[in-house]
Amino acid sequence: MKLIAVTTSVVFLLFAILTLPILVDKNMNPVSDHPAFDVSEEALKLHETLFIGDWHADSHLWNRDLSKRYKRGHVDIPRLQEGNVALQMFTTVTKSPRGQNYEKNETSASDNITSLAVIQRWPIKTWSSLAERAIFQANKVHKLATNDVDNFMLIKSQADLNNFIQKRSSNKSFVGGLIGTEGSHALDGDLENVTRLYDEGFRMMSLHHFFDNRLGGSLHGISGQGLTNFGEQVVLEIEKLDIILDVSHSSENVVKDVLKISNRPIVVSHTGFYGHCPSPRNINDNLMEDIARKGGLIAIGYWDAAVCDNTPKSVAEAIHYGIKLVGAGHVALGSDFDGTINPGFDTAELVAITHELLELGIDDNSIRLVMGENMLNFLQENLPKI
Ligand SMILES: [Zn+2]
Repeated sequence: MKLIAVTTSVVFLLFAILTLPILVDKNMNPVSDHPAFDVSEEALKLHETLFIGDWHADSHLWNRDLSKRYKRGHVDIPRLQEGNVALQMFTTVTKSPRGQNYEKNETSASDNITSLAVIQRWPIKTWSSLAERAIFQANKVHKLATNDVDNFMLIKSQADLNNFIQKRSSNKSFVGGLIGTEGSHALDGDLENVTRLYDEGFRMMSLHHFFDNRLGGSLHGISGQGLTNFGEQVVLEIEKLDIILDVSHSSENVVKDVLKISNRPIVVSHTGFYGHCPSPRNINDNLMEDIARKGGLIAIGYWDAAVCDNTPKSVAEAIHYGIKLVGAGHVALGSDFDGTINPGFDTAELVAITHELLELGIDDNSIRLVMGENMLNFLQENLPKI
């Protein structure tokens, strides 16, 4: 009897270990139920000819082999191909406070990503080091590039990007990926880790996530402060290495300070416009205009706190607002897919955005820019040469 009880417990434990990560992923990254989108012939035709790029997806936070198609989550290579996406920035989440909200989060709040690392059976070194968590997720992108060479490559330089464009001209569904951080707490407070992350393939770094860190205030933190001395040093080091700077989640004071000291254009990798959607997730329009004036890009997310709904129509309306505010040359896509949001569609269904942009009367050329050509041009100018 005792043996049966022990065996049952072991089987139950194994079942829990294997299924818990899947259940958490499914729960945290749902897609709202919706009927198939009604898409015009014109939209289908135009969409096929677009070069599409997305500045932000946290897909490597989860235990999935992205070379395969999944029924859960929002992004994998087959679904990127179905959505005609050419470029995907993969961002790495390393710390997220319990009770996470858009108003105020304590830096000392206990951290959800530690529990996620444990239940997903990440290496023990990731349990205590945020840099190791970022590198572990980056390594998944490297592995994907090694194991799925026919469909995917990692882009780290202008030379890689040119190589990618050439490959895509003979293989229409070839996908390029880049690696970025979500918050520079991933440096573990060590300036030298900027170079370490660069060496691991990181080509975009954001400064903050949901809480204040050693670099300065988060948009959802307590202090609202600007860049600290350490923050300034990190910004300059990031620029020195030709890493793209992302000010998503940073306080407005940090964004102002970055604009003062940076010499390169910056991006907001996933956001909405405050004037379109007055939410605590969005910074004010004047700052967005300043970012655009310095040659920057503002990438629109697909969830309610960014665009006040999660439908293709609401994303298109935010884009339309952005085009009127800063011009079509400064608006891009930044889904936040797989970032524990609840979008109304996954990446396979992006044609629905093209349809809604056409419905709003936006011209083909502006649609081309926003859907991906702005991202391509920005990378062509701002990635390291080789
Ligand atoms: Zn984010």
